[in-house]
Amino acid sequence: MVKINPTIEKLSSAAPFIAPEETERQRGVIFKARLGANEGNFGPSPAALEAMAKATQDSAWKYGDPTGHDLRATLADSLGVPFEGVVLGTGIDNLLGLTVRIFSERGDKIVTSLGAYPTFNYHVTGNGRVLSTVPYADFHEDLDGLLKRVQDVRPPIVYLSNPDNPMGTWWPAEKVEAFAAALPSTTLFILDEAYSETAPSDAIPAIGNLPENVIRMRTFSKAYGLAGMRCGYAIGEPPLISQFNKIRDHFGVTSASQAGAMAAFSDQEYLRASIAKIELARSRIATIASDNGLTPIESASNFVACVCEEGPQYANALISALAEEGVFIRKSMAPGLDHCIRVSVGRDEELDWFETALPRAIETAALSTAT
Ligand SMILES: *Cc1c(COP(=O)(O)O)cnc(C)c1O
Repeated sequence: MVKINPTIEKLSSAAPFIAPEETERQRGVIFKARLGANEGNFGPSPAALEAMAKATQDSAWKYGDPTGHDLRATLADSLGVPFEGVVLGTGIDNLLGLTVRIFSERGDKIVTSLGAYPTFNYHVTGNGRVLSTVPYADFHEDLDGLLKRVQDVRPPIVYLSNPDNPMGTWWPAEKVEAFAAALPSTTLFILDEAYSETAPSDAIPAIGNLPENVIRMRTFSKAYGLAGMRCGYAIGEPPLISQFNKIRDHFGVTSASQAGAMAAFSDQEYLRASIAKIELARSRIATIASDNGLTPIESASNFVACVCEEGPQYANALISALAEEGVFIRKSMAPGLDHCIRVSVGRDEELDWFETALPRAIETAALSTAT
């Protein structure tokens, strides 16, 4: 037998979650409405598609720019931070893993919320670190609870997503700033801003308003509609950001993905139109949910979490019944959140299908959980 790292051997290979493609293969049907992965179902800017096609045609044969120079320079310029204060990665997911490796050691305790973004947890446990979780309070990540835990545990890292996934709730910038300011300077604060574009502007701290122990993460996967291209970035103090160069995959962000992200970022008019579509879709999901006896939670992201008063078992049954109807959605498995289904925004025809399928799925779920 070859050696398998014992930390990895004991993990589940279904982590961080089962892909919708896997479910499609198992069921032998393609989902008609893909509303479970918080993607940008409205697609990227046509300028991004064109730039990616050109980059592929001209440059597929060569390694992309490992420095990611043009995109980083554009992002740094627009944010008003130094070039060395931005690093690219193959999505936030990739940057989260690198951050855990850089800023903590095996056995360290790392603080996050119970039920917060699972891919962060996946990197924490996959690297032999230990999660210390704080329950949500009223469907919000609990800033006071997280701060208290940090003061007790003195972790090297604390994680917060604002707006949050899976609940879609958010804190105003001044609360996030006060949280950051109260942290010990020895704790790195990962502020995941995957949904910064769809958040109200007063939820996003100004770039200069956070201390030096913060790394913020953003992505082209959500509002920009480029999830499949794998491009995200981290913003922070140059001495912290420069650490990523020591272990990152230098050719991970391909030339096509750099070109697509660059063109998408340059087309802010298209982004604004996408955000408007996301807002409309959110309110339509909320209406469909209320019409069917579910309680939508106000969201600043590209999905709506909806409370099922009947509880977690019922919510699980509802997800299976919707899958049978060709609708892919997800939910958290964490206690306190596991009775909420999470429905991502989608195109009109996808939401039409969701609207048609939901009453039938509710009937099926009610039957299957009746005692
Ligand atoms: C979707 C999501 C991500 C993943 O972003 P990628 O850039 O596609 O890796 C990260 N964090 C949160 C909170 C998300 O919801």
